[in-house]
Amino acid sequence: MNPKPAPMRRDRLRIAIQKNGRLSEPARALLSACGLVWRERPDKLFCYGENVPVDLLLVRDDDIPGLIHSGLCDLGIVGRNVLAEHAGQMGQAANFSEWRALAFGGCKLSLAIPNDWTWQGVAQLSGMRIATSYPALTRAWLQQQSVDAEVVVLSGSVEIAPRLGQADLICDLVSSGATLAANQLKPVCDVLQSEAVLAGPVAELDPDLNEIAQVLLQRLDGVLRIRDSKLLIFQTTREAAADVLKLLPNSEPPTSYSVDGGELLAMQALCHGLVSWQQLEALKRAGARGLMVLPVERMLA
Ligand code: ATP
Ligand code: ZN
Repeated sequence: MNPKPAPMRRDRLRIAIQKNGRLSEPARALLSACGLVWRERPDKLFCYGENVPVDLLLVRDDDIPGLIHSGLCDLGIVGRNVLAEHAGQMGQAANFSEWRALAFGGCKLSLAIPNDWTWQGVAQLSGMRIATSYPALTRAWLQQQSVDAEVVVLSGSVEIAPRLGQADLICDLVSSGATLAANQLKPVCDVLQSEAVLAGPVAELDPDLNEIAQVLLQRLDGVLRIRDSKLLIFQTTREAAADVLKLLPNSEPPTSYSVDGGELLAMQALCHGLVSWQQLEALKRAGARGLMVLPVERMLA
C-alpha cells in the first residue's frame, strides 16, 4: 500500500463550515463579524478569503472532524455533538478538539422513551435496545451509568425506530421537542448539552497558519464577548458609588474616572444581556445620573 500523502503545506488558513444546514448561516455570520469577506464561487464548495488569508471549505458537518484530523482544514465550525461523537469513535488518536463554544446551534442529545412509559430512572434501561446515530456517546454514557443496554446504530430517522420495532427507545438530538412529540416520544434524560463550537487540532498548527489563527481567535473572542452586550455609561458621586456598583446588571468590572478631580465620578461598564428600564431606574434611585445604554460595535481585548 502506498503511504498516505502528507497534506500540502499551505500559507492560507482553511476553515470548514457546514454547506447546507442549521449551522451554515450562523457560522458565516460569525466569521463575517470577525471581518472576513469571501469571493463566492459558483460551485460554492470553496470560498476564497478576499481581505485576510482565510478560506472557507463548505462541507457536510460530519466531515469536519476528519478534515481537521487529516490537516486538510485547520479549523471548523461544527456541533459539539458531532465533534464529541467522532472523538469518542477515534479515542486518543483524534487530532481535533473544541477550541471555543460559540453560543448558537444549541440542542441536547437526549434519551427519549415512548409517551406511554413511566420513567423510573436509568436502571430501567437495562437490557433495552436504544436506537441512535451517536453510538460512541451513547455507549460512553451507558458505561458511566453502569447500565447494560444494546445500542442500535442508525444513520437517520432515529425517531421512528420504536414504532418500527427496531428499538425500545432512542438517543437523539432535541431542541424544541416537536419532532419527538410528533413520534409519540418524550425526552427523559440528557446525555450531552450541545452547541456549535470552533474546532481545531490538538497538535500545534504550522507557525504561519497559527499566526493567522491567533488573529482570528482574538477577533472571535471580541465578537463573542460583546454579543448581546451594551455599554452602560453614567455619573455618580464617590459616596453613592458602592451602592450603584452593587446593582450593575451582569457587568464586567467598570472603568471609572473622576470628573474635574472632584466628588463626581464618570463610569462605564460592559453589560451582558438586556439592560432594562427597571434596572436603569434602580441605578438612578441608588444615585446614578445621566445613564446611557450604548451599542457595542467591536472589541479587541
Ligand atoms: P449535513 O447535510 O451537513 O450532514 P445534518 O442534517 O447532519 O447536515 P443539521 O440538521 O443541519 O445537520 O444539524 C447540524 C447541527 O445543528 C447538529 O449537528 C446540531 O449540532 C445542531 N442542531 C441544533 N438543533 C438541532 C436539532 N433540533 N436537530 C438536529 N440538530 C440540531
Ligand atoms: Zn450531518
